[in-house]
Amino acid sequence: MIRCPRCDQGWVIRARVPEESETFLLCHECDTVWVAGEPHEGPPFLVLEEYPARFGLDGLWSNIELLERAPGR
Ligand SMILES: [Zn+2]
Repeated sequence: MIRCPRCDQGWVIRARVPEESETFLLCHECDTVWVAGEPHEGPPFLVLEEYPARFGLDGLWSNIELLERAPGR
């Protein structure tokens, strides 16, 4: 598990929209989403609010299933 390259505070964890096969990487601190590739500081990236809209869902944490647990949580 790696530190978020954008906020340098959060952990980057694997997540998905429940029932969807596509997974993505998410910083639990600054809510940055990387759909493809490794986390990086600059664009392209999404924010959490934008991602579930791809599946017609509201951008809420309750619409996200975390597939890993961040250390200390
Ligand atoms: Zn972050």
